[in-house]
Amino acid sequence: MDFTDREQDRYSRHHCLPGVGTEGQARLKEAAVLCIGAGGLGSPAALYLAAAGVGRLGIVDADAVELSNLQRQILHDEESVGEPKTASAARRLTGLNRDIRIEPHPVRLTAANVMDMFGNYDLVIDGSDNFPTRFLANDAAWLAGKPLVAGAIFQFEGQLTVFDRGRDSPCYRCLLPEPPPPGAVPGCDEAGVLGALPGVIGTLQAMEALKLLLGHGTPLTGRMLHYDATAARFRELELQPDPACPLCGSHPTITAPVDYEAHCSSADALDEIAVADLQAILEADFEGVLLDVRQPEEHAAVRLPGSTLLPLGELPARLDSLPADVPYLVYCKSGQRSASAVALLREAGFSDVRNVRGGITSWIRELGPPPAA
Ligand SMILES: [Zn+2]
Repeated sequence: MDFTDREQDRYSRHHCLPGVGTEGQARLKEAAVLCIGAGGLGSPAALYLAAAGVGRLGIVDADAVELSNLQRQILHDEESVGEPKTASAARRLTGLNRDIRIEPHPVRLTAANVMDMFGNYDLVIDGSDNFPTRFLANDAAWLAGKPLVAGAIFQFEGQLTVFDRGRDSPCYRCLLPEPPPPGAVPGCDEAGVLGALPGVIGTLQAMEALKLLLGHGTPLTGRMLHYDATAARFRELELQPDPACPLCGSHPTITAPVDYEAHCSSADALDEIAVADLQAILEADFEGVLLDVRQPEEHAAVRLPGSTLLPLGELPARLDSLPADVPYLVYCKSGQRSASAVALLREAGFSDVRNVRGGITSWIRELGPPPAA
């Protein structure tokens, strides 16, 4: 590949670096990276990838810049406030390197657009700040076979890892099979974060991305690097693939990306029903759908009478076949999968949907074994 005199000059510190050189620089120029989020993590990641000469850089973010973002999101400046983040990011990144292509995607990443989006890039950096996007990115990257450099920050701590199907790494669902139920984590904007922290983690994400594109060194697959800013200490945790993982395990139940509802505020709190109330409703001839979203073998072992089996992984594809104008009560083993199912149903327009708190485990503990169906 030919480089212009400008590029020769711009990348001279790469050209003279053993392990990179003009060959490595050509690889970077031919590469395409998608950055999810132009926020705290996406800012340093995108800046360093643009500076390093990654030829095509996509930025997906549906938000506008707010003044409170400037404390840590260094892609944006005072003039960006009120502007779409992708526009502000494109201006800054083009100003940094006009020899590369910046592709702004001012949309929300959803199950409907994520596979097409990822298909256009070689590698994905996840700089999102919420569980629904994290799960969506994990599932889509795995299904598309794209390496995913995942990072997360919380207050004074951060962590990152690389999920890569091509390297036999675990996936995010091996660590956390489903998003935590609503209310279990602080609201997205409530937790706070020390300004320079995303700079540390986002920069490490850019570093892992460059290494993967260059084929240099040992990638952070199967390991999680955890940074404790308070103690100024890095720790490394070994990650193992889970054979029972619903996405990458031996019997996967998730075969397409899943949209989960964002739970940023308490207004999103789910309606839940206690098992004693559920029992009363069922005894009074419930005229709705009692949905069991566990796996068929769990349903076969023990179930609530009159319940319909529909495993969580199959729910997105079956939404159209469900009656919309009846009440739904949804249960699983512990109330977690069913919370995800309730969120999915709500998102799809089902209005009368309630989660069975504690699932069938609570039923058995409080009421004894369910009556035979
Ligand atoms: Zn997995």
